[in-house]
Amino acid sequence: MSKKSIIIGNWKMNKTVSEAIRLITELKSLLSGKQEVEIVVAPSYVALHPCEIAAQGTPIQLAAQNVFYEESGAYTGEVSAQMLVDAGVKYVIIGHSERRQHFGETDAIVNRKVKVSLENELKVILCVGETKTERQQNKTFEVIERQLREGLRGVNDTYAEDLIIAYEPIWAIGTGDTATPGIAEEVHRFIYEKLGVIFRRDLVQKIRVIYGGSVTPQNVRDLMAQPDIDGALIGAASLEARSFVEMINYGE
Ligand code: PEP
Repeated sequence: MSKKSIIIGNWKMNKTVSEAIRLITELKSLLSGKQEVEIVVAPSYVALHPCEIAAQGTPIQLAAQNVFYEESGAYTGEVSAQMLVDAGVKYVIIGHSERRQHFGETDAIVNRKVKVSLENELKVILCVGETKTERQQNKTFEVIERQLREGLRGVNDTYAEDLIIAYEPIWAIGTGDTATPGIAEEVHRFIYEKLGVIFRRDLVQKIRVIYGGSVTPQNVRDLMAQPDIDGALIGAASLEARSFVEMINYGE
């Protein structure tokens, strides 16, 4: 079964609501009718619902950049999975390295967020990736294996097809130091192997493993040509409509 590739723009803490709506409007005008790939953008929480309204009738789907693991209650400042679903959000990014690094997100926290999101019918984009030092110390596979095992602990087979794994080597994020297609492919193959331990073999085929880390219109084609790279998670280069659409149209 061939999976539909997916291109996701992570806008991080960029774009006010009006700027975000403008970007959606620009994307709409640049996208040609039939899309070969699935298109997702992840604006800030405040821009999610306005962007969802602006994107109606287009192939653009919305992802949140985070979620909280409780259903509701006295958690000032947090947003639940149910709130995201009600706002028209389809995907959620969980365990991005910036959240692990700046907000103390552990594998255990990531795991709770993954489970509550899947239970609420959000599709999960689970980020994994090693630091530069871990790579230099030959710990890449060990780190990725732990992040997958702990992040997906207790996740039932039935949810496998709602999962996307984003391999995002931390040394490649926002640095311009993209992983070579060969390096990325090697880790993606390893991720598929480990997913085969966690989920039933036939279900693993349905999970997309995507690459993130300084993807640009210049390097996207070579990365996407790898057999185990099913899409891209893109930060900086997704903030400008022409550049994002160029990457969406990498196959043309
Ligand atoms: C990201 O933050 O998910 C990312 C991949 O960023 P960039 O493309 O800017 O490296």
